[in-house]
Amino acid sequence: MSEALSNNTAANAGPAFVTAKNVDISNCDLEQVHLVGAIQPHGALLVLDEPDLRIVQASANTLDFLGVDSALLLGQMIDSLLGDANTAALRTQLAGTDLAGILAHLMIVGCLPHCAGRFHLFGNRSNGLLLLEFERADTLGQAPQSELFSGLRDALQQLQGASSLRTFLQLAVDRMRTLTGFDRVMAYRFDEDGSGEVVAEAKLPGLEAYLGLHYPASDIPAPARRLFKLSPLRHLPDVDYVPVPLLRAPSAPTAETPVDLSYSFLRSVSVMYTGYLRNMGVKATLVAPLLSGGKLWGLLSCMHHGEPNYLPYERRIPVEFFAQMLSMLMGDRESLDHCAYRLRLDQVLGQLVGRMGRAETFQEALAVGETNLLSAMDASGAALIAEGKLTVLGETPAHAQIDLLAGWLAQQGALVFSTHRLAHEFPAAAAFSTVASGVLSIRLARAGSDRVIWFRPEVLRDVDWAGDPNKPVEIGMEDHEIRLRPRNSFALWKETVHGQSRPWLNCEIDYAVSLRQAIIDVIVERARLLARANAELERSNLELDSFAYAASHDLKEPLRGIHNFAEFLHAEDGARLTERGRQRLGTILRLSERMDAMLESLLKYSRVGRNELDLQTQSSAALVEQTVELIRQVIPGQNFHVEVQPPLPAICCDRVRVAMIFHNLIVNAIKYNDQPIKKVQVGCDTTVDPPVFFVRDNGIGIEPGYHQLIFQLFRRLHGREEYGGGSGAGLTIVKKAIDRHGGSIWVESLAGEGSTFYFTLAPARDAVTEGL
Ligand code: ADP
Repeated sequence: MSEALSNNTAANAGPAFVTAKNVDISNCDLEQVHLVGAIQPHGALLVLDEPDLRIVQASANTLDFLGVDSALLLGQMIDSLLGDANTAALRTQLAGTDLAGILAHLMIVGCLPHCAGRFHLFGNRSNGLLLLEFERADTLGQAPQSELFSGLRDALQQLQGASSLRTFLQLAVDRMRTLTGFDRVMAYRFDEDGSGEVVAEAKLPGLEAYLGLHYPASDIPAPARRLFKLSPLRHLPDVDYVPVPLLRAPSAPTAETPVDLSYSFLRSVSVMYTGYLRNMGVKATLVAPLLSGGKLWGLLSCMHHGEPNYLPYERRIPVEFFAQMLSMLMGDRESLDHCAYRLRLDQVLGQLVGRMGRAETFQEALAVGETNLLSAMDASGAALIAEGKLTVLGETPAHAQIDLLAGWLAQQGALVFSTHRLAHEFPAAAAFSTVASGVLSIRLARAGSDRVIWFRPEVLRDVDWAGDPNKPVEIGMEDHEIRLRPRNSFALWKETVHGQSRPWLNCEIDYAVSLRQAIIDVIVERARLLARANAELERSNLELDSFAYAASHDLKEPLRGIHNFAEFLHAEDGARLTERGRQRLGTILRLSERMDAMLESLLKYSRVGRNELDLQTQSSAALVEQTVELIRQVIPGQNFHVEVQPPLPAICCDRVRVAMIFHNLIVNAIKYNDQPIKKVQVGCDTTVDPPVFFVRDNGIGIEPGYHQLIFQLFRRLHGREEYGGGSGAGLTIVKKAIDRHGGSIWVESLAGEGSTFYFTLAPARDAVTEGL
């Protein structure tokens, strides 16, 4: 099937290379196939120095071919072989042609001084050397040009009209057989793992069919695949040929690197390859690469079984042209096959993007409703992991298995990951391979496991191998040494393939990439809007604080006046007033004092919001100790006991405001308490991040229905004078100070069972936005 390896008979090939002497199927992936140092006998090769065109290497067959012994050619200028006129024409050609990376047809040379024939001359430049290849010019086998072109035109028209890739390839092999006259032509498609399948075949009646057979990756090793991609056509006219070595000028250093024959048409092939072909009963081959999107998609492989078959250059031109046209049309054909599917996916993408714009969350848009992650997509299940929450659609592995898989996918790091053989890459997935042998996944955040995963079930497949793929080699003796050789039985070998799903198509991967971008756009847009709303809120809060400050500050002045004048009236004219008048005056005084207390609270409240926080790292234990000490001085008579439970951590905070927080909470714990001994505990859970402080009491407790209300401004749960009175602003100010630190406050309490106030002084961990 392939030209895998070299038949290296070059006398000077260095020992560092895997050569015909030491190559077998165990090391053929390492062989430097392009450095073989030998050619096939259907042409002659010269290696020249530029610019003087001195011959430094020559194939050993120049006498037969060009009329001069190679030993005589070495060290000579090219004109001694070509004559002046040919050499001048060659120089002109060389000046105008870029010969790097191709083997170009330079000219036809005739009238050589030592030989009567006409030759096609091909050239390639590599590593500073010029390679010239000679093949006999032959006009006999050439069909008339007009016939040839109309044949090709018909073929192309048919190919363009092919309704599917399979029909396209069948047309291609049929036409290729007509063009080449080979007994058998096969279209061979490579799988991801390097193995391949015969997907179309045209053959002489009576020959055994290879259509549908699979060949293991070792039949066409990586170096051979690389070379196939480089040459438009590879030709082995006679499997039983005797390789012709390249000889060097005696002055050439022996350790010199062998000439790179990557682009040579005459390059000798591997003994493994010829052995393989002989085992298959093949006498001659011609192989053209099939490229799709610049990648080696497969091969067009022609085989001749009866006898050697040399295709002269004139007949190879249309073949080469046809094969290249096929590669160009292939790309279109493959994508055309999936055109309708791609369109459907695009429509769904549009709908999902629209829904994401309208829905409350993108999770809802993707997972709920008629159009969702599974719509149009050829997948049996999908999972959406966002903000730590897993939502599943259709048939999926169990939640714990998805978690496991998501963890593994996160380690892979790729934005988009796809496989149709999950358990091969992630063995733990063998446990759920029936539902998820195929996985396509997109990552939504740079860190963490937020992602979308589509699942495809296992598809059990019967594969017909050309011989046992697990035993692609046999052990034999060569040169008194044990060698591994290509298998010689190609008898049908059936295998049932497990753990694989249908492979993911390019259009599905493209769809996943576009969906990922759309989701990220939505997330980024929402984050932007949220940031704007927050900035707006902050601005209006600041304005409100300024207003509250100005209002309460300015209102205090006239209020003090009202209070003072009411007092003067009471002191100086109280006796002249009626009892009712005195009572009303008393009410004015009380109300103005209350209003003064409220304005004072409002001032405090606005101050918490107005000034910048003075953040410093300090010991919360010391802060609490000092606050408790202060409270003892302010309310000495009360029978209370404050217990501070270590450890209290060091924290980064605004000292004055946090002292105020502890002060308010501890005072409330004593105030709303009718126990004979009022017990207060202050502590902190440092095992969580951020640490959670608490102030616990054995007081009157709070009914759960009021747990939110008590944080509202001027909200009291008791009569004005009960429990020592108060303005109902303390907890509001506490909450605001905590908010400004990025923390939160909440209460756990039942009526009559004491209360515990908890608070943090930093944002919660999961609220820190992950980078996308
Ligand atoms: P004030 O103490 O001035 O009334 P606060 O804002 O400090 O205002 O408290 C609001 C209300 O919450 C209080 O009136 C009280 O009813 C209730 N409260 C606060 N702390 C406690 C506590 N430790 N135990 C029971 N009730 C409390």
